[in-house]
Amino acid sequence: MAVSFSANAKAELCRVFPSKRCCALAQCFGILLFCNSFSGDGIRIITESREFAQVLPKLFQRAFDLTFDQQPHPEDTGKLVFQIQQPQKLLTVMEAYGFHPEDTLALHINLPVLEEDCCRIAFLRGAFLAGGSVTDPTKGYHLELTTTHQNVAKEGYILMQEVLPFAPKTARRGGAYVMYLKQSDVICDFLTFLGAHVASMGIMEARLEKEFTNNVNRRCNCDDANTTKVVEAAQEQLAAIRLLKKQGKLEHLPPKLLQAAQARQEHPEASLAELAQLMEPPINNPAMNHRLKKLLALAKET
Ligand SMILES: [Zn+2]
Repeated sequence: MAVSFSANAKAELCRVFPSKRCCALAQCFGILLFCNSFSGDGIRIITESREFAQVLPKLFQRAFDLTFDQQPHPEDTGKLVFQIQQPQKLLTVMEAYGFHPEDTLALHINLPVLEEDCCRIAFLRGAFLAGGSVTDPTKGYHLELTTTHQNVAKEGYILMQEVLPFAPKTARRGGAYVMYLKQSDVICDFLTFLGAHVASMGIMEARLEKEFTNNVNRRCNCDDANTTKVVEAAQEQLAAIRLLKKQGKLEHLPPKLLQAAQARQEHPEASLAELAQLMEPPINNPAMNHRLKKLLALAKET
């Protein structure tokens, strides 16, 4: 079976073992809150990543000095299941994060555990390993994190917003809460942040390749000057957006402009009319034109 892009990214992340205990605890916290189940009744982590399965017992050893009650054999493949049911062990884990197994209160991201920057990275790395996936960039741009805990989804959203230039999008799927990224550069940023530099580079290369092919096709297809003008305008807008991002101004734009910038980045080929329809709520062409002009003007301001 071919190894998926996601599996490779996870394998890469497993090579980063937290050197400090605070980070081991934070990474386990991310794993627990984004894994299959974590409650006072037990812990159940299921993964198909062999690298993750190899590193998991070491992480729990480092963080809590304890072993799983059930874990797969080293030769096992397919779905690998790790479990803890012994009350004493569950108590140790819960207490490490300030919870108590009898608490019926919903679990949440206990921020004091994530005070240090090193720990925030470790937490999100754990979350991605246990509840994340990233699509092969030749098929599309999509990275997601899934949790079954509502509060964790809310707090995870804030945490991701702090470390990324854009907030993730959110959705409900079955009983789970999904946070996802759709923009190739944001996905790159996130993977780099976690320490998956090779995966990040893979996305960037796929994107450059796609842009190159699109450019060639465009040149071949469009004889009429009008289309060329549309393409040039889009390139100019993209350059302005990149500049604003570089200057750290993008995230401070008014929501309408930010929406316009995001739509242009996600749809570099779209015409003015198509972009106007992508706005929420949709707007007319002159209004869309106004927003794009405004972005250009802001980029030129410095
Ligand atoms: Zn740390």
